[in-house]
Amino acid sequence: MDRMPDSVAAPMADPAHRTLCTDCGISRSSDPQRCGRACQFIQPDYAGLEKRVHGRARDPARGDEQHFGPLRRMLRASLRAPSAGAQWSGITTRIAERLLESGAVDAVLTMSADPDDRWRPVPVLVTQAKDMAACRGMRMGYAPLLSLLEPARERGFKRLAVIGIPCQVYALRALEQELGFERLYVIGTPCSDNTTTERFHEFLALLSDQPETITYLEFRADYHVEIRFADGSRRSVPFLQLPLSRLPSDFFPLTCRTCVDYTNVLADLTVGYMGGQGEQWLLVRNERGEELIALLGDELRTSALGSAGRRAGAVKGFLANVERAAGGLPLRRMPDWLRPIVGWLMPRVGPRGLEFARARVEMKAVETVIHLRREAPRKLRNMVPPHVWPLVEPYGLKPASHEVRAGSSQSVNCS
Ligand SMILES: Cc1cc2nc3c(=O)[nH]c(=O)nc-3n(C[C@H](O)[C@H](O)[C@H](O)COP(=O)(O)OP(=O)(O)OC[C@H]3O[C@@H](n4cnc5c(N)ncnc54)[C@H](O)[C@@H]3O)c2cc1C
Ligand code: SF4
Ligand code: SF4
Repeated sequence: MDRMPDSVAAPMADPAHRTLCTDCGISRSSDPQRCGRACQFIQPDYAGLEKRVHGRARDPARGDEQHFGPLRRMLRASLRAPSAGAQWSGITTRIAERLLESGAVDAVLTMSADPDDRWRPVPVLVTQAKDMAACRGMRMGYAPLLSLLEPARERGFKRLAVIGIPCQVYALRALEQELGFERLYVIGTPCSDNTTTERFHEFLALLSDQPETITYLEFRADYHVEIRFADGSRRSVPFLQLPLSRLPSDFFPLTCRTCVDYTNVLADLTVGYMGGQGEQWLLVRNERGEELIALLGDELRTSALGSAGRRAGAVKGFLANVERAAGGLPLRRMPDWLRPIVGWLMPRVGPRGLEFARARVEMKAVETVIHLRREAPRKLRNMVPPHVWPLVEPYGLKPASHEVRAGSSQSVNCS
């Protein structure tokens, strides 16, 4: 593993107790009360923040904005020289390196890995481009990224880049104006199905007799999980063959089962893979996002995104299983003999490219509504923003009057 960047921050305060919380770091700051206006799990205002950050809120009449948030353009992309150790080709890390190399920022706030556990994220402020290498790759778990905002300011950093997952980026944007940075670049990754690092180790133990040798894991858009091992070997496992039904029902915390921002709509640039059909998927959201892409010049190879298949059947099947699981019933299991056949068929006839990404966003929205109705019904009204309802309506999920805020426009904007 690469060494930890030199620029690690001061000791952190303990987190304050919160009912729904992914420990983004705000509750550890000098003013933990700010959670009330910063948290996506309390009373988020996506439309207001989209307008402030991107100049306008999402417009369902424009292409895929209902699903993916405000967009200038989307690309399929990869680095011409992929970076070993990156989660995909390493676009995220390379942009951060270029920001530091070009002097556009004083520091990059992101996650490194715990020296004793490659899967545990640890927030760091990186000031040297060469130290970004230690941050490559995906880790599972939560870590208080934003607890380093105040130390960054105290160290005199005025221009900052932040790489974060959606719940971190929401809080960052909600507080951006009071943070006092001269310039802020936000590179977001999509995020779904996160859990604590401890629980993730339980999952790894179901995948291998030697889970400590697993160095990489990714849920790919071709319905397979790719697993890499310390000896260089790789395994590709169809989703249907995963031991998901052996996971306890609380394996994923309620936060991540009810998260409404899969695609990181408040980032300047989102770097994911879901719509990329084996490559990366870039969602450029504003002028600053264009600036970030331009930093890569010829290093970036781009092409048009594709879309194929139909998502409705897949989302309906998912909804049926979520309802069973939320009701405490076992997941409907496919007979063992059928699994390899369906596993072979899914990448060929299931939703692919942008249709796969739309399907995943709708699944997440369905999951949010069902789990909140069951486990925290009083939160639904404030936590579920208006744009989510049109995503679930085609599947028979409509808001009751007590589930929406007065004056909001849930019933319009159906695409
Ligand atoms: C928990 C999780 C779930 C994800 N789920 C999806 C998904 O469903 N669909 C999708 O398209 N993309 C998802 N992503 C993003 C995806 O895994 C890649 O990180 C992204 O596509 C960028 O690839 P890259 O090669 O450019 O990244 P790299 O150059 O390897 O850089 C990855 C960056 O992610 C940061 N990072 C790693 N782990 C964490 C963490 N736990 N919390 C915060 N930051 C972290 C690193 O610090 C690094 O800066 C997820 C990421 C995470 C962390
Ligand atoms: S703002 Fe961050 S720290 Fe505060 S409750 Fe939300 S996730 Fe937790
Ligand atoms: S799924 Fe949502 S709430 Fe959970 S870690 Fe990812 S962004 Fe945060």
